Amino acid sequence: MAEDDDFKRTIVYGESAISYIKRNSLPAYPKSYELWYTYSSGYNHGLNRAVNEILRHKGNISSEDMQQLYSKYLSPTRLGDRLNDVGSKVSKEVEGLIDSLKHSVNAASDYGLSLRKATNILPELQDPKKLEAFITMMVHATREAMVSNSKLEAQLMESKRQFEVLQTNLEAIRYESLTDELTTLGNRKHFDTALDQSIAQADHTGEPMALLLTDIDHFKRFNDTYGHQTGDQVLRLVALTTKQSVKPHDVPCRYGGEEFAIILPRSSLAEAHDVAEKIRSSVMSKELLKRSTGENLGRITVSIGISMYSRGDTAHGLVARADEALYTAKRNGRNLVVTEKDLRERTEVA
Ligand code: GH3
Ligand code: MG
Ligand code: MG
Repeated sequence: MAEDDDFKRTIVYGESAISYIKRNSLPAYPKSYELWYTYSSGYNHGLNRAVNEILRHKGNISSEDMQQLYSKYLSPTRLGDRLNDVGSKVSKEVEGLIDSLKHSVNAASDYGLSLRKATNILPELQDPKKLEAFITMMVHATREAMVSNSKLEAQLMESKRQFEVLQTNLEAIRYESLTDELTTLGNRKHFDTALDQSIAQADHTGEPMALLLTDIDHFKRFNDTYGHQTGDQVLRLVALTTKQSVKPHDVPCRYGGEEFAIILPRSSLAEAHDVAEKIRSSVMSKELLKRSTGENLGRITVSIGISMYSRGDTAHGLVARADEALYTAKRNGRNLVVTEKDLRERTEVA
């Protein structure tokens, strides 16, 4: 059933990819196919936006456009390539700066030499001719020093501008490497780093910290019924609802396929529970309509597990306890929030 669904979906993307290649008279290299297949699937928003932009301006995509789009949005080494590029531009800028500084130091020492000579010959300057020659020489030396200074100043301003551009590029690369493409939440790598940092911070301040793990209920069934692409829209919706339910310093991430992890620094169990309830009820309250056809797809629900950090805890332990609470929410019927405290109380009663 699921394989059948995958078959139909991927054939549609594949056929669409070939038709784009033909329409734009492009060579059908594997890379072209990958680019147009990805475009047809709509998974890579940056790529789709860039392609649409070019199509709007020029009406077609050339081989050159395709090469550029591929290296910017698809090449597996694209972040590394861009980092290398920033790295070599930084080296070049620094080399240029060092050259200018050397030049300026030389000019300053030449000027110093002129001044020292001047001190020596000052007593002999009663002769007006000598005085005139001396003043001309000094004016000349001063002008050269000024030119050298303003060259250095211009170079410093240019370097400042270049460094600002490079800094923006670096920030974009960093953002991309830590962001989940589909939902624009933090990705798993971001989550792992942020959790370690939040643990260190909680240890330092002694403030409480909570972890929420969210999993969409019966999502496989939803995908099988309405297709993967509609499933992706639902993932985006759950991500957006999550983002809207948390405070700016909280860290919502896509943990895996249809699972989300949210770090809540400076939050008590009661506060974390409120946030989880808010996410759960907002997701449930949304009636899903298929944009293209207006078809009503019903509603979806999520289950959420919560764990609280305690001193000496590890990231692994914290995630495992939230996962256990989540699993209990699933076992108890789904569309539920369960905390690790609920688990302990249940075990103690049993
Ligand atoms: P449960 O209520 O127990 O969580 O049931 P479930 O069907 O949601 O759980 P299961 O882990 O069996 O299935 C998860 C499904 O999530 C499998 C896959 O179809 C879907 N899924 C995972 N990642 C993605 C994705 O990126 N896009 C879409 N559309 N579906 C995804
Ligand atoms: Mg799951
Ligand atoms: Mg699920």
